[in-house]
Amino acid sequence: HTSVVLFTADLRLHDHPPLRAALDRASTVVPLFVRDRAVDAAGFAVPNRLAFLADCLRDLDAGLRERGGRLVVRSGDLVEEVCRVAAEADAGEVHMASDVSAHAHRREDRLRTALEAGGRGLVVHDTVTTVRAPGSVTPGGRDHFAVFTPYFRRWSEQRTRPVLDDPRRVPVPEGIGSEEPPDRRELSGLSPGLARGGEREGRARLAAWLRGGSGDGKGAGDVGDGKGAGVVGDVGEYEDRHDDLAGDATSRLSPHLHFGTLSPVEVVREAGGLGGPGAEAFVRQLAWRDFHRQVLAARPAAAHEDYRTRHDRWRTERAAREEVQAWREGRTGYPVVDAAMRQLRHEGWMHNRGRLLTASFLAKTLYVDWRVGARHFLDLLVDGDLANNQMNWQWVAGTGTDSRPNRVLNPVVQGRRFDPEGAYVRRWVPELAEVPGAGVHEPWKLRGAAREAARGYAERVVDLAEGLERFRRARS
Ligand code: FAD
Repeated sequence: HTSVVLFTADLRLHDHPPLRAALDRASTVVPLFVRDRAVDAAGFAVPNRLAFLADCLRDLDAGLRERGGRLVVRSGDLVEEVCRVAAEADAGEVHMASDVSAHAHRREDRLRTALEAGGRGLVVHDTVTTVRAPGSVTPGGRDHFAVFTPYFRRWSEQRTRPVLDDPRRVPVPEGIGSEEPPDRRELSGLSPGLARGGEREGRARLAAWLRGGSGDGKGAGDVGDGKGAGVVGDVGEYEDRHDDLAGDATSRLSPHLHFGTLSPVEVVREAGGLGGPGAEAFVRQLAWRDFHRQVLAARPAAAHEDYRTRHDRWRTERAAREEVQAWREGRTGYPVVDAAMRQLRHEGWMHNRGRLLTASFLAKTLYVDWRVGARHFLDLLVDGDLANNQMNWQWVAGTGTDSRPNRVLNPVVQGRRFDPEGAYVRRWVPELAEVPGAGVHEPWKLRGAAREAARGYAERVVDLAEGLERFRRARS
């Protein structure tokens, strides 16, 4: 008999528990991806992520064809399409990965009910998109951890399941109709330096990143458009260099983890196996990813509402229209903020240190509602992820799980510390490209030729001391 394997945020063939379970129990499987109308309606299907998704689906289809199968692509209401395909294939079971958002929970419930009405079963698998299942690492008597450190302690104590082998053959029944997988060349409005998607690409990047950690030289990545999009750093140096904005020495695996072209279980097992401070610090970041997911799974409303209310009187987008627009466009007059916002627009990706300081600038220095910033990030980020984005925004805004909710990052101090030579600013802000050294972080203090070199650059949209004062007053 036949089973359906519904792919969602797990667009790979290696280490794939739903596919493995289906192949073990059925003689043929239908590998299915449904372009869910509800995701489009929610405004979540933006060009950068659609392009990456298109690469992933094409690669998944190619991988399946190498194994004697193919990918079936449909679009519409996910529940209706899955039921339709299950009926066409006369499948007894549908296998899929668990997910954490409110939308995913509702969708899963609806799907189970609809399938059961037709005499079919839904099997939902954990540890496909996370290392630990949300809800499996809990403090006594409560449904989730609200503080990372104790969570991480417990997370580290648990066993990680073994990595599953790639399937050799995936027999797919004849006669199930499919749309052509989408093609990124049909899309417009993409960031020019956008990364490529797909399982092969993800695995090549992971291998290069980990090779660095095992000490046989530098990562072997391409250099993209020369601005950093293709740089592959080195896990061995992660602990020392992850905050270096210009060094760009993080893994850039985030879109692959978001779309599931990499298995977080495999990433953690392989990196963990290397040992050393770099690999350990990197594994800890993967635990942060699980941490935010277990918060959102337990409190789905935290995607849109304050996880902890601070009674903020956020300025709305309308009240701060010009400042918000300057922030979005990277012309706030604070060079490191502007550099990071322009990296976001150019690559559909931003360095974590940049995300922290630009988010703090919006939510605290400008005191604008964090949801305005989170939305802009989701409009552009190729790794834009409801759990990671919203929970990190809340962390920075001080409405989430940060134990120091009133800390404000000063963009000048951040720039001098994490871009000490000013190279990151000069890379992304051409108006300042000729300004030498760390003075580039305070163009308003430049004199003489350096001032002349910075002439085309924006005036500051806010005075830092005034911003800080407004925030302190509001939070007191
Ligand atoms: P690395 O430093 O190499 O880390 C490895 C992996 O660990 C990442 O790929 C990611 O999956 C995970 N990770 C790292 N840092 C975090 C973190 N703080 N929280 C959760 N997981 C983490 N990450 C997203 O994947 N999607 C988002 O939409 C997103 N939005 C963010 C918004 C804000 C305001 C902030 C402060 C952070 C956000 N992050 C988000 C987390 C983090 O910035 C990115 O995961 C990271 O920069 C991706 O680059 P990398 O793959 O090179 O990371």
